[in-house]
Amino acid sequence: MKFDAIIVGAGAAGLFCAIEAGKRGRRVLVLEHNAQVGRKIIISGGGRCNFTNTGTKAENFISQNPHFCKSALARYTPQDFVELVKKHRIEFYEKKLGQLFCRENSRQIVEMLLEECRKAKVEIRLDSSVKNVFKKELFEVDTNQEELTCESLVIATGGLSIPHIGATDFGYRIAKQFGLKIVATKPALVPLVFQSDVLQNYKNLAGVSLDSIVSCGKESFRENILFTHRGLSGPAILQISSYWKNGDKISFDLLPDKNAFDILQNSRESRKELANFLSEFLPNRFADVFCDMVVTSKALNNYSDKELTNIAEKLHAWQISFKETEGYKKAEVTLGGVSTDELSSKTMEAKRVAGLYFIGEVVDVTGWLGGYNFQWAWSSGFAAGQFV
Ligand SMILES: Cc1cc2nc3c(=O)[nH]c(=O)nc-3n(C[C@H](O)[C@H](O)[C@H](O)COP(=O)(O)OP(=O)(O)OC[C@H]3O[C@@H](n4cnc5c(N)ncnc54)[C@H](O)[C@@H]3O)c2cc1C
Repeated sequence: MKFDAIIVGAGAAGLFCAIEAGKRGRRVLVLEHNAQVGRKIIISGGGRCNFTNTGTKAENFISQNPHFCKSALARYTPQDFVELVKKHRIEFYEKKLGQLFCRENSRQIVEMLLEECRKAKVEIRLDSSVKNVFKKELFEVDTNQEELTCESLVIATGGLSIPHIGATDFGYRIAKQFGLKIVATKPALVPLVFQSDVLQNYKNLAGVSLDSIVSCGKESFRENILFTHRGLSGPAILQISSYWKNGDKISFDLLPDKNAFDILQNSRESRKELANFLSEFLPNRFADVFCDMVVTSKALNNYSDKELTNIAEKLHAWQISFKETEGYKKAEVTLGGVSTDELSSKTMEAKRVAGLYFIGEVVDVTGWLGGYNFQWAWSSGFAAGQFV
């Protein structure tokens, strides 16, 4: 059977590309190895899908070429996607920082995409896994169900995170088969695991969360951090995890809006114990652990200036070393992927393999937490959808 375009992967990018190509009158088939489309969309955003971010800019993405995403993001914007969501009467709200979520649930986004696929006469085959791909005049695609040919082959198989709902390395394997460069992949937007000696200090803090500016190298994010049984999670940690490398220390400003030295100086005549005093600004349990680790807790009026300076410095630059990330089973996305050097930023087509396209997370474009990854999926899918 011959199609104009075959798209492998019925996730966010694949379905969106299919809709756009179908609207142009192309005969489009989407192959999905799961029994269901869009499983990652369904679990996203805590079941409410943070489907875009109104403030999306190229700076919100990590890629070896930070300019690559600009063209696609400009041609299909967050506002364009919001219009589509409104057309389908899906209610949404801004949670914070431009992050738009479905009010009801993320299945509404999947249903919207399927409805648009029906209108654009896109065919979708579930339980379909690709065995082999060959390129002759056309692409030959052998699946567990049939032998197919197409003019354009779009790889939209996403990244490696959450393997139990269908993530595979298929996209990277195809890129390698056709000799395309891959930027090394690693889990991103992922909780971090303490080194074993560090875990001892924090093991009773699971469930405690606090507002903090978290920094690694030149990157900083201000949001909550959350202690887990093994390490740290929470939005600020997920964000910084995308920049963290083995051996890097992460620094925490635990009193972001305050000057710890002034606060301590202003109360230096007080007879309050340090741990009690700090629990006015920090969670009790954390204040206790902080004191255990830095200095014996005693009445504030018993500390020397030098000790208070040391405490203030620690409050603004608390350091923790981590052993590793929680890996792909907990990561929201995969950093790295098919090198943008290999692709046209206008069409997403491989420069060296006519008719072969890569879109979405499989490409070396990784968004921050906050709706940016879906926006990249829509924008890159839209871009390819105009050309396949
Ligand atoms: C828990 C979680 C929550 C998230 N929440 C958000 C959020 O709220 N906002 C946000 O912007 N991003 C979020 N993300 C990230 C976002 O889901 C992804 O970046 C996005 O889904 C990528 O779209 P994609 O189409 O490239 O890949 P995917 O959506 O992963 O789709 C890839 C598809 O390809 C299929 N596939 C894989 N291999 C094969 C194969 N060999 N043959 C056939 N089919 C195959 C998969 O089954 C899947 O259906 C979240 C991710 C996770 C894991």
